[in-house]
Amino acid sequence: ALYGASRANSKGLDLQMRAAVQTELASRASGAGFEAFCLGTPHGSWAPTPKAPVLSPNDGTQVGTVQWATKQDVAMAIETAHAAWPYWEARPVTERADMLRRAADALEAQMPAYLHLLAIEAGKTYADGVAEVREAVDFLRYYAHQAEHLMAPDHLPGPTGETNVLTARGRGVWVCISPWNFPLAIFAGQVAAALVTGNSVIAKPAEQTPLVAHAFVKLMYEAGVPQDALYCLPGAGEVGAALTQHPLTAGVAFTGSTQVAKLIAATLATKPGPLAPLIAETGGINAMIVDSTALPEQVIDAVVMSAFRSAGQRCSALRVLCVQDDIADELIAGIGGALEVLRMGHPADAATDVGPIIDREALERLQNYERELSSRGKAVGGAPKLPDGALAAGHFFAPVAYELPSLADVKEEVFGPVLHIVRYKAKALDALMDQINALGYGLTLGVQTRITARAEAIARKLRVGNVYVNRSMIGAVVGVQPFGGQGLSGTGPKAGGPHYLTRFVTEQTVTINT
Ligand code: GLU
Repeated sequence: ALYGASRANSKGLDLQMRAAVQTELASRASGAGFEAFCLGTPHGSWAPTPKAPVLSPNDGTQVGTVQWATKQDVAMAIETAHAAWPYWEARPVTERADMLRRAADALEAQMPAYLHLLAIEAGKTYADGVAEVREAVDFLRYYAHQAEHLMAPDHLPGPTGETNVLTARGRGVWVCISPWNFPLAIFAGQVAAALVTGNSVIAKPAEQTPLVAHAFVKLMYEAGVPQDALYCLPGAGEVGAALTQHPLTAGVAFTGSTQVAKLIAATLATKPGPLAPLIAETGGINAMIVDSTALPEQVIDAVVMSAFRSAGQRCSALRVLCVQDDIADELIAGIGGALEVLRMGHPADAATDVGPIIDREALERLQNYERELSSRGKAVGGAPKLPDGALAAGHFFAPVAYELPSLADVKEEVFGPVLHIVRYKAKALDALMDQINALGYGLTLGVQTRITARAEAIARKLRVGNVYVNRSMIGAVVGVQPFGGQGLSGTGPKAGGPHYLTRFVTEQTVTINT
């Protein structure tokens, strides 16, 4: 299949694959061999910086080293990328698309190595890792296909003696800033989209996950992408700021917080140089509305998956479950029971449902939030036990659910396995929807009802990017469920959708009087 492979293959890991990952794990037990540093061919040499350890969220062990980019590295990379851009842009789109396809094939072939890296660097369970590698492969193939269509010259009608041709062309140096929660898929998606449309690219992976990004950029070079057209600069916020402020930056793709997206928009608006577009994918306070006709088992399954899979560290994750009061007691008891049997543990353990929180700071934020939440909410059921022994130094947070009096009590996006539950009365459904819209976010929405007309009416009324009815609300598949929100949740166009690439290009009309 051209895309949508992630749907077919994300169900689990077959035994052969699991054995291959175990071999990988054993052969690199210390993990110290992984490295990340500035990649790309600059006109000078990178600033010598010390090697800092990269620690696993699973157990605190060192899994590799990173050398952070400096401000001088940023300037040098952008200048060289800008000089290389006309050559890259002049190549036929099919050549660039074929590089993406070769990268997709290589990524598929190397899946065990990437699953291993995703598990130790990002704390991804195998099920999450498989879905993520598949998604990255899908992005590569889908954008290769889309670019070939978008960038084909369009011959427009005109008067006799005149030809009119519309062409989509790359904009220049494109900056990609990606998050730690999808350190391969979102990183690869941004980079692939910007490159295939004829931009040279500077990619800054999240500071928590430089190793997997580094491996992927090397794979792109092996697939034929020139080293002066694609750079990888590991760094924290200052590197991102230096990249977005640079006069030669022609566009930015960003996935992360709403607050940082606004800062980037402000920077782009005032910096010297071209008017640079921003594609921002940010967070959400995502709700699921469950009416009294819903099937309880299906709801519980969807809730557990949506709120707790990936330890709730997805921007699409369910944050507020809104249950019609007639069925609330039964459903809440069921969710409590499901929480108790969730298994927390090392992501490389096949039995693990919930892996770690990405870092100590995020863990402490969740612990503080829960302390405060427990004083005003009612705890639902029991939580799984924290793993002990070797994982004591890991960043584990037991999934929790709290019942609150109303939606007005949920004020912020909490990025972790924390579920809020509120009850609503059937006659107050409209008011509830107004409240959800008033949150200002608009990413995902779950609806559970047997009444299709009601599901459609809810989807029409709520200003959100992705609506999922009678299923989980995470795991959008490339080319099948184009993903991205509105309002405080993002600018669009949707990743993995037919319009995504249009923001990466500029259009040129050439009129020739013959
Ligand atoms: N695309 C992912 C999903 O559908 C979420 C991406 C994110 O968390 O940034 O679950």
